[in-house]
Amino acid sequence: MHDASQRAMPYSAMQQYDVIVLGAGISGLVAASILTSQGNRVAVVDSYDRVGGNHLDWSSPDGYTFDVGSLIFQDDSPLLRHFPELLSRYIPIKPSWGRLNPQGKITHYPISIRDDIIGAGPLGVARIFASVLYARIFCRRMDNAKDFARFWVGAYLLHRSGLETYMRRFYGVAADKIDLELARKRMLWIAEYASLKNLLRRLLTRKKPRAKNRQMARPREGFATLYQPSVDKLESSGVSFKLSAEMHQICKTVFGFELHLGDSSITTTRIVSTVPIEVAEKLCGTSTSCGLNTITLITLYFSFSGDRGFRQSIIYNFSYEGAWKRLTVYSDFYGRVNDREYFAVEVIAGAVTSPEQAETDFRLHARQNHLFLGDLKLEGSQTLTNAYPIYSKGAAASAADAIQRLRAFGIESMGRQGAFNYQPTARVSTIDVEVAIDGN
Ligand SMILES: Cc1cc2nc3c(=O)[nH]c(=O)nc-3n(C[C@H](O)[C@H](O)[C@H](O)COP(=O)(O)OP(=O)(O)OC[C@H]3O[C@@H](n4cnc5c(N)ncnc54)[C@H](O)[C@@H]3O)c2cc1C
Repeated sequence: MHDASQRAMPYSAMQQYDVIVLGAGISGLVAASILTSQGNRVAVVDSYDRVGGNHLDWSSPDGYTFDVGSLIFQDDSPLLRHFPELLSRYIPIKPSWGRLNPQGKITHYPISIRDDIIGAGPLGVARIFASVLYARIFCRRMDNAKDFARFWVGAYLLHRSGLETYMRRFYGVAADKIDLELARKRMLWIAEYASLKNLLRRLLTRKKPRAKNRQMARPREGFATLYQPSVDKLESSGVSFKLSAEMHQICKTVFGFELHLGDSSITTTRIVSTVPIEVAEKLCGTSTSCGLNTITLITLYFSFSGDRGFRQSIIYNFSYEGAWKRLTVYSDFYGRVNDREYFAVEVIAGAVTSPEQAETDFRLHARQNHLFLGDLKLEGSQTLTNAYPIYSKGAAASAADAIQRLRAFGIESMGRQGAFNYQPTARVSTIDVEVAIDGN
């Protein structure tokens, strides 16, 4: 544990805040909004040079702007309650989703009755139904995400549809190593799709359910343009932003805490942390947790001219080969640049470890599946550590222990990184922070 006696600066010369928020991602911004509205003087500190956390974009000199992942927002998000000014900056989009199945077909996402079930032929269909029946009777005991998926769709369809391979790609570990609780939380759609009641309802109702909300993306210029008005608003309410901050350590004092930042220090009585747990642990000098592994995401940025081979804007890779997980065609949202389409390909580091390997692997797999026939040019790439928590078995318990240790030190840790929580959207991050702050 660090001691305040290490500091050299007189206490009166330090800036004092009621609350210091570590991290200026969605969780940090929402925390700052709530705490300020409660009358607190808040400082938001981030080692990144801009707000938005892992809402990251990348622009090429030729004018292409890509995102690190497929980042889509909705106009009914609770985030807009805190930052209504975002709404007019988003651009409305009409994304469509597809998936490359193991049979080399771009088909319906997440599963296609025509291609995955009927396409298996009479024998295949019989095998699918027999394996579902078997699973529902004999595989009721569930230990991990594979058991969960197998119970609902049966072992044969789980393999044939590529869902098992995709789970490995998505979660970073084999499906039978993924925590059951995460499966229950994140894979409920499998149960919904595969329940007999819902299957019958879908077959009997012809009308497609109407979307309740509008889908939106960041402005063409990037996330900085999106979030600047929110920063301005928070600053005018008294929030102080300290970006590009070198966070050295957090010391306990008789008055609360001191956060040492390069050549200055700030003090507070309360710290809310939304940065990765291990970053907070290092700052506090508490013991570091083990077993909290995260996914490193390599994103490849391509421009293209030719026949891409599909019409959807977002394609998931469910095939047995290829390290890439998902691709997003940004030119569908923002228009072509220099008459070329452009898209980002997300690759989970593991089978490939560098952008060069990821590119070679993607080009080969695309060629094998007759995708992107024409002029495909890599414009750039980005590697993001801590992109997603890996929810291997036991990780949830390790995260809970680490959060408890931080709590004992006095730090409230929350958010996607801070709670090691699989928050898929800004909507979920917002609600979780609202609950975490109001619960204190
Ligand atoms: C690939 C991808 C796709 C996504 N898709 C969507 C989507 O479609 N819709 C949607 O609403 N949201 C999406 N999200 C956003 C995400 O799911 C959360 O809503 C949100 O980004 C979580 O914010 P946060 O502030 O809790 O954490 P983050 O933004 O992850 O991080 C908060 C802070 O932690 C620190 N930090 C993070 N990583 C590191 C590191 N490696 N080292 C040191 N410090 C670090 C930084 O200070 C950062 O500001 C996506 C995110 C990613 C990465």
